[in-house]
Amino acid sequence: MDYPGNLFVVSAPSGTGKSSLVKALLELDSHLRVSVSHTTRAPRGQEQHGREYWFTSKEEFQAMVERGDFFEHAEVHGNCYGTSRKAIEERIQGGEDVVLEIDWQGALQMKQAFPYAVLIFILPPSYEELLQRLNRRGEDSPETIELRMANARIEVAQAQYFDFIVVNALFESALFDLKAIVHSQRLKYVAQRRNKSAVFRALHLV
Ligand code: 5GP
Repeated sequence: MDYPGNLFVVSAPSGTGKSSLVKALLELDSHLRVSVSHTTRAPRGQEQHGREYWFTSKEEFQAMVERGDFFEHAEVHGNCYGTSRKAIEERIQGGEDVVLEIDWQGALQMKQAFPYAVLIFILPPSYEELLQRLNRRGEDSPETIELRMANARIEVAQAQYFDFIVVNALFESALFDLKAIVHSQRLKYVAQRRNKSAVFRALHLV
């Protein structure tokens, strides 16, 4: 189906810098909206219900799964996460460009539900650098860091199924690459036919 809005799905191993990159991208681009996911994990720090996540009980999450409320859902690090239909359908139908920041399992499910979704995988420059970033972040215990590093190897192996790869060695350069991907989607024929309809009419292209 041809929706007027684009759907960008960004995945990365934890510690790669995905959240900071998506945040910077959203600040630069007022036409992009991030989708707020549901999760069964407890809020961390300053997180707010409805801003970072819809914090949901396991029972409610399960009820949503059974009702078919999710486009995709997955278990990540022992908690459930899901993208509700409501969170994105209206927006892309309304012509907004939506960004999902979800794990690789969810990204591949989204590609099934929306074949035109643009899948972007962010890679760290090396495992050594990823380990240093996780240590520098100071959020996790040594055991959790070890688990994240083991998971990172599994996650990185999924990069081959994504449409675009961005290497986050230098933040500014990775941000530039993300902007370029978003921009290129807006230059596609179907998008330009919509956005530049006067030009298309003048040139008898419609
Ligand atoms: P965190 O708990 O650290 O915010 O997120 C843990 C992981 O869950 C991250 O990889 C994040 O991208 C992923 N995640 C967040 N929301 C969703 C979602 O709606 N679906 C899926 N599949 N993964 C999600």
